[in-house]
Amino acid sequence: MSSPPPDPDPMNSDQIREDLCEVGRRVFQHGWVASNDGNFSVRLGSNEFLVTPTGVSKGFMKPEMMVRVDIEGNSIDGKGQVSSEWKMHRISYQKREDIGAIVHTHCPHATAFSVAGLALDQAVLPEQIYTLGAIPLAPYGQPGTHDLYQGMLPYIEKSNAFLLKNHGVVTYGKDLWEAFFSHEALEHAARIQILARQVGKVETLKREQVDALHRARTEAGLDPHWIDCRCDDDD
Ligand SMILES: [Zn+2]
Repeated sequence: MSSPPPDPDPMNSDQIREDLCEVGRRVFQHGWVASNDGNFSVRLGSNEFLVTPTGVSKGFMKPEMMVRVDIEGNSIDGKGQVSSEWKMHRISYQKREDIGAIVHTHCPHATAFSVAGLALDQAVLPEQIYTLGAIPLAPYGQPGTHDLYQGMLPYIEKSNAFLLKNHGVVTYGKDLWEAFFSHEALEHAARIQILARQVGKVETLKREQVDALHRARTEAGLDPHWIDCRCDDDD
């Protein structure tokens, strides 16, 4: 019987397995998933990835449950099954070599925007403008099918985060923690905007203020995958 190829970096892989569990616990505690929703992945090498198992609550994952797969989603080792949503991870890694990790959840405030048919693209919070920029809304595609990622295609090379219509949220990062913190920032921004709509009118920053933030992030050398936000005073 043949045995699986040796792990290229066992120490690093062990830490990533632990990190996937820790991110799962945080996502679960934040209420960003119900039941077994959501999936995360990390790139280990050019054709090797660690993925969360399907059919397991993100709050109760163990390091040994993670599945090591190739780009097609074929299991290299691990007992668990890969999520049917692997297709959207695969297309993202194929399109962008700089993506090291992907987090997908159904975090409720940002998902509410997607259900309402709204992108998170108003220039409201400087932190969001500076780090993530506008969060586009990808058209609906049935989960588990090829349609799921068809709507994502126009945005994969433009942004590190987007909403999936009537479904959830995807964020990219150089590593798992960056993808997680982008998710946290996005959900927080969505929550504030929903609260603001309840207490009054949402007022954006002015165009010149947004342009200043754009210049600052460019000078700081931040990730160029960024979409401009909408201002009330735009023509
Ligand atoms: Zn989903």
